[in-house]
Amino acid sequence: MKRNTLSFVVSMVAVGAAALAVAETSTIRPVPFTSVHIDDVFWAPRLETNHQVTVPYCFEKCQQTGRISNFAKAGGLQEGQFEGIYFNDSDLYKVIEGAAYSLQNRPDPELEAYVDDVIDQIAAAQWPDGYLYTYYSIPRQPEKRWTNLAAMHELYCAGHFFEAAAAYYQATGKRKILDVAVRLADHIDSVFGPNKRYDVPGHEEIEIGLVRLYRVTGRQRYLDLAKFFLDERGNAAHRETLYGLYCQDHLPVTQQSRAVGHAVRAGYLYCGMADMAALVGDAAYVAAIDRLWDDVLTGKTYLTGGIGARHGGEAFGEAYELPNESAYNETCAAIANAMWNHRLFLLHGHARYIDVLERIIYNGFLSGVALEGNRFFYPNPLASDGGYERSPWFGCACCPVNIVRFVPSIPGYVFAAGDRTAYINLYVGGAGTVRLARGSVRLEQKTRYPWDGRVAIRVEPHGDREFAIALRIPGWARDEAVPSDLYRFLSPSDEQAVVRLNGQKQPFELEGGYVVLRRSWVDGDVIELELPMPIRRVLAHPSVQADLGRVALQRGPMVYCFEEADNGPKFDHLLLGDDAPFKAEHRAEVLGGVTVLVGTAAACATREDGTIHEEARTITAIPYYAWAHRGAGAMRVWLPRMEGAVRPLPAPTIASKSKVSTSFLSDVGNNRLTGVNDQIVPRSSNDKDVVHLHWWPHKGTTEWVQYDFAEPATVRRVKVYWFDDTGEGECRVPASWRLLYRDGDAWKPVRAQGPYGVAKDTLNEVVFEPVRTDGLRMEVTCREGFSTGVKEWIVE
Ligand SMILES: [Zn+2]
Repeated sequence: MKRNTLSFVVSMVAVGAAALAVAETSTIRPVPFTSVHIDDVFWAPRLETNHQVTVPYCFEKCQQTGRISNFAKAGGLQEGQFEGIYFNDSDLYKVIEGAAYSLQNRPDPELEAYVDDVIDQIAAAQWPDGYLYTYYSIPRQPEKRWTNLAAMHELYCAGHFFEAAAAYYQATGKRKILDVAVRLADHIDSVFGPNKRYDVPGHEEIEIGLVRLYRVTGRQRYLDLAKFFLDERGNAAHRETLYGLYCQDHLPVTQQSRAVGHAVRAGYLYCGMADMAALVGDAAYVAAIDRLWDDVLTGKTYLTGGIGARHGGEAFGEAYELPNESAYNETCAAIANAMWNHRLFLLHGHARYIDVLERIIYNGFLSGVALEGNRFFYPNPLASDGGYERSPWFGCACCPVNIVRFVPSIPGYVFAAGDRTAYINLYVGGAGTVRLARGSVRLEQKTRYPWDGRVAIRVEPHGDREFAIALRIPGWARDEAVPSDLYRFLSPSDEQAVVRLNGQKQPFELEGGYVVLRRSWVDGDVIELELPMPIRRVLAHPSVQADLGRVALQRGPMVYCFEEADNGPKFDHLLLGDDAPFKAEHRAEVLGGVTVLVGTAAACATREDGTIHEEARTITAIPYYAWAHRGAGAMRVWLPRMEGAVRPLPAPTIASKSKVSTSFLSDVGNNRLTGVNDQIVPRSSNDKDVVHLHWWPHKGTTEWVQYDFAEPATVRRVKVYWFDDTGEGECRVPASWRLLYRDGDAWKPVRAQGPYGVAKDTLNEVVFEPVRTDGLRMEVTCREGFSTGVKEWIVE
């Protein structure tokens, strides 16, 4: 493969590499993924899938959806209208960045030729003055450029383009894309800056991109421009209207202390601030991102490492606002959070940031992509009542294309380099070379991590042999669930980490979360690390309402969940006692090979006489990242641990014992036959945590849903809770309905003693002259132009 001379030392900033072109004030440097070769049971297959499946798949999707032809149209190479969303350019850029990393890991002339062709189309779309943004280019509309920075994402797209350009140039040595990037950056620099236009983008990203371009080109003006965009954010001195909390544009960045607004934007902003801190050594930036990190870790991080609790605004919630079912946890936010924590590690050299990063990459990030590499999560909730699955693509496709570029960068997080210290941050089978101030060291890891905590590290020094090797002892291996009091282990472990050097046990005291071994190293020295992996019970801070009285399981870095495929569809009646035994079992044939946890819970049910009955049940937990591969089923990370949190199954009813059938069942959305008789009354007609039966996309039709009773019964009353998603979808309460009972082979209407109600957000009760029957049918007529559905149907 062709590679320019800089490519080994200048690499992806996110996994970072120091550039020779510029001076960094940070003393710890990343070891770029190009210096690391992964050969293990866990990540190697994922890198392979990303290269073989996800990269070509995302290019194909970009092609199908007009994301590529938009450039050809903008460049006059093709006729046609703009297709898609106004920020779609950025998606293609991210796939190019991912392809560049893939090419750096392994040559692929076919892929490279394809990307070269795409770059030709991008270059054609660039205006003579350097402007590049297809949405305003088909046809070219100069009067619209830079008119709506809050919403139109021109600068956001430019930021991703700079990242892609830097990556592709480094991977191939080809300058064409870098030249386009430089022209675009020069153009932006001619518009914005001191004594030019004062404004900031609504969506951060250009800050990271400009720093990256600076690191590759050494051009100071790009660094200055990045600093300008950072310093003008939230700064009312030069701007009449600030864009507010949603865009972190409410206070100057160095005065911010609370993580607010759109979580991906925030994450990219904090990365930009960390980059700037590393390059210009500004203590005010460091102090601000340290405060923000404390805020995120204190009350805004899920056990999976996910951030951004709210769907509304894709935003951070208040402290401790961490709902499970409705958790947003965008995959992009997990990526931004990982990139930010890595940058904080480089600034501070403390292992706690890698603890967070590890939690993210094994849990809240990895759930975002299916094992097959071509299905994706956008939100990553910690509970589901079924009906939620990974999607092949999204109209707004930021997440799949972010996964494409993040997966191949993961080897870059394994090691780091101080002047005289080689850091081992992640335990991953394979080898890497860490360059120190005088010489280098090759470190080869053999391990079955994350399933097994034993790691053997072979040391091969080159040059100066006097240096330190710092082994990260993960928080989970020293009784610290997270580096804050947001989560804690229920009880301490009596098993401690053990370090051996050439067979000799080494006493140690941790330094910043590391065991630091200082000596004169000899080729063939072997360090053995044993990180015990008992199954840990995790509790959340009592202020987290959603997890009150609940417990989660963790083993090593893996957060576990319970899924319907192993345990059935209901969970909240399962009581996971503190003493209930669990054991770990590795199952090579399940979900690509996972260690599952098998144990016992008490299943609680209400008898018909009202008493509660408990019964021991075997339950199985799988790693959280691996859920939703066996159909759309219910899932829980947190199970009840206390009597107050458990909800015993209600006593069986005529409805719950009935067989349900319907006129039409589509497989779209939160749609299930069992929704109508699951004995869960929703909080509203659009309660997303409660499944339902709907007839969409049938509109204006008459449909039916039917109960076949387990045995004949005399019934006199029904209650119906309608599904209605006004404001989001096309389901409304129905126009009308009636109730029929089975008499022999015939369906006859009951004699209702009042109207058939169609009220929203409540149970509609109908009392009728008692009938003895073995079945009831509701006949429902949809409103004209709308569909409808049933959340719950009670029979008495
Ligand atoms: Zn996203």
